[in-house]
Amino acid sequence: MQTGTIFNIQPFSIYDGPGIRTTVFLKGCNLRCAWCHNPESWIISPQLEFLSEKCIGCGACFTACPNNAHIASESGHLIDRSKCKNCGLCAQTCYAGALTMAGRQVTSEEVFGRILEDAPYFKNSGGGVTFSGGECMMQLDFLCELLKLCKEAGIHTAVDTAGHFPFSSFEKILPWTDLFLYDIKAFDPETHKKLTGVRNERILENLPLLCERGANVFIRIPCIPDGNWQDMEQIAEYLKNIPVQKVELLAYHRLGEGKRKSLGMDVVTFRTPSPEEMENLLTLFTDKGIPAVYNR
Ligand code: SF4
Ligand code: SF4
Repeated sequence: MQTGTIFNIQPFSIYDGPGIRTTVFLKGCNLRCAWCHNPESWIISPQLEFLSEKCIGCGACFTACPNNAHIASESGHLIDRSKCKNCGLCAQTCYAGALTMAGRQVTSEEVFGRILEDAPYFKNSGGGVTFSGGECMMQLDFLCELLKLCKEAGIHTAVDTAGHFPFSSFEKILPWTDLFLYDIKAFDPETHKKLTGVRNERILENLPLLCERGANVFIRIPCIPDGNWQDMEQIAEYLKNIPVQKVELLAYHRLGEGKRKSLGMDVVTFRTPSPEEMENLLTLFTDKGIPAVYNR
């Protein structure tokens, strides 16, 4: 039995593949997207989150921390992240809910048991389970075992990935994966590096290989006017010859900003596209015969 680290299990999800799904969020990511909505996923181990607006100033965490990471400053209660070892002791004493740990270690059996509870909803809606993150392929053996357990139980399986792996990683999970939700975040390698921390040659090479191997693929593209918008024409040209089932255009939104703050990270903001801009973008893709949709 494999063990892994997850940070959430979301039942009744309707945005992570067909039908009603249960989405399991695994920790760990090999990208650092500037707009990330789940920055608590980046490191594999559990991580301290702090919502300062919930703090009632009781001081319990100051006493609990063996590393003196909590600081009472003129600008309020701060955490010195260079001293914090993410041990979670302070979170155990915070009854106000200002301190919590993102992520916990689980066994594949425990996660599978939780997924099985939702199985009746999958059958009626054509849904299933989606493994997301972070980047769920970072915990490849754990992911593989979960996929296998679900597939053998007749549950439809989807893997949400940014594709930044050697193709051999995909070969390992291909037999147990019914659908890939595959992100394309930019086309120009330098733009990709600027926005996500890594170049994208491998990502663009893996996609046609996956389709050649008969994989079902939904492409997901975050659409950011002052981020990757200038790459959209090239992305559409690239995709028009690849037999993917669907291309989802996702308008940028600012959901990740509060989470970044709670983790002591810098907050990066982009402009949200207007519905008209998204409609025009949709036309750019559909005019090339690409099965694109825009979720309003
Ligand atoms: S234990 Fe929670 S409520 Fe009390 S001071 Fe620490 S963060 Fe604030
Ligand atoms: S998680 Fe541990 S090291 Fe970090 S602030 Fe809390 S008690 Fe201190």
